[in-house]
Amino acid sequence: MINSHVHLDFDHIHTITENAVVIVPSIGKQNWQQVQMYPYFALGVHPWSVESHTQQDLDTLEYLIKCSNPIAIGECGLDFAKNIDRSKQLYIFEYQLQLAETYKFPVIIHAVKATEEVILLLKKYPKVTGEIHGFSGSEVQARTLVDMGFYLGFGLQILNDKPLRLKKIVQNLALESLLIETDDHANPNNLILVAEKIAQLKQIAVEDLSKQCDNNAILLFGLQ
Ligand SMILES: [Zn+2]
Repeated sequence: MINSHVHLDFDHIHTITENAVVIVPSIGKQNWQQVQMYPYFALGVHPWSVESHTQQDLDTLEYLIKCSNPIAIGECGLDFAKNIDRSKQLYIFEYQLQLAETYKFPVIIHAVKATEEVILLLKKYPKVTGEIHGFSGSEVQARTLVDMGFYLGFGLQILNDKPLRLKKIVQNLALESLLIETDDHANPNNLILVAEKIAQLKQIAVEDLSKQCDNNAILLFGLQ
C-alpha cells in the first residue's frame, strides 16, 4: 500500500514497516537534503516556509529539481488560515507551478482555506497536474479539480466523526482520483485505518481500494 504523503524525516514520526512504499515531500530548503534519502521524494517550498526563502533559494530549488530526480514538486501551495504574507505565498507557489510546467513534474499541493485561489492559479497552467493532499475544500471544488486532472489525497481526518462533508466528497469521488496518506501523523502505519474507512464509505473491499490507490499513485508520480 503506497502512502502518498508522509513526512518520514520529521523527528516525531515513527519508523515505517519494512517494504512500505512512501512518498516523502519536503517543506523547504531546511529538508531538501534529508528527503533525498528516500527512494521517492518531492522538492518544494511549503506555504508555511515561504518567508525564509529568497530568490537564490528558488534558484537552488530549480537546480535540484533538474539534477536530483524527484518524483514531484512539493509540497507547495497556499494556506490562508495562517498569518503568512499572502503575496509571498502566491509568488512562491506560482513560481513552483512554472517549474512544474517547464520540467514536466506533477505538483503536491497544500491548500487550506485557499482552495479557490489554488484552482484559479492552476487554471493558468493547464498542462500541470498533481495532487491536492489532505483535501479540505468543498464538493464543487473537488469536482472542478478532478475535471482538471487532479487527484485528491485523504488522511486520518476522514476517521473523525465530524467531517461529514469530507465523507460525502469521498463517497462521490471516482476511485481513479483518490490517494491515501498520513502526512505528519505520528504513526504512518495507520494508513491502513484510512484505507479501511474509505473502503467502508465506498462499500468495496479494502484490498480493492488500496490496489486502486496504489495504481493512482504509480500513474500520477510515474513510480517504477
Ligand atoms: Zn505535508
